[in-house]
Amino acid sequence: MLLILLTALAVGIVAWPGRTARARLVWALAFLVLLAPNWWMEARWLRTQAAASEVVRALSGRPEAYAQCQRFSGAFFYARAATGWVEYGEDGSTSPEAWLTYETCQRIRDWREGGRSAPTEQQVVAVHVLTHEAMHVKGERSEAVAECMAMQADARTVVLLGATRAQATALAQRYWSEVYPRLSDGYRTGDCRPDGPLDQAPGDGAWP
Ligand SMILES: [Zn+2]
Repeated sequence: MLLILLTALAVGIVAWPGRTARARLVWALAFLVLLAPNWWMEARWLRTQAAASEVVRALSGRPEAYAQCQRFSGAFFYARAATGWVEYGEDGSTSPEAWLTYETCQRIRDWREGGRSAPTEQQVVAVHVLTHEAMHVKGERSEAVAECMAMQADARTVVLLGATRAQATALAQRYWSEVYPRLSDGYRTGDCRPDGPLDQAPGDGAWP
């Protein structure tokens, strides 16, 4: 929003009556240098959000579902611990929005743009948070069940985000073996196995 206002302001300054052609050109170039990188960042951000939305739609089965990435300005004042969020209505309804923190979206973006082959643990967790919130959008309210379903669906998320099946399996297995054991009790269940019915990426079978 701020970027749109700044761009409008820049256009106004360049088009201001009475300027010489040379002055207009100087102003236009100055604003181009200042604003172009911001528009480029904005486009990257929207691409990440669109890819995450695609995942939420596919995993939840709700065509109206989407992901909302927190903006940098919002992250500045954000004090909650949650890395993602889905609202529930008092009437029993579930919001179609999977809300994700700035850091979560940033890590998903960096992982997608960084070749996807060697994710950091933070990136593994960020991709999983997206899957986890998609399970809530699907209607699952229990944290332990949503977490288990998400782990079984992580491989599918990874493929939907453009990675290979091998990368999908590797990321999902890493979450299962490195992150899941460290979660608090409310998020874990002894009944959970990584090879549930949801872990199948588009194409073929389950984990090896
Ligand atoms: Zn949750």
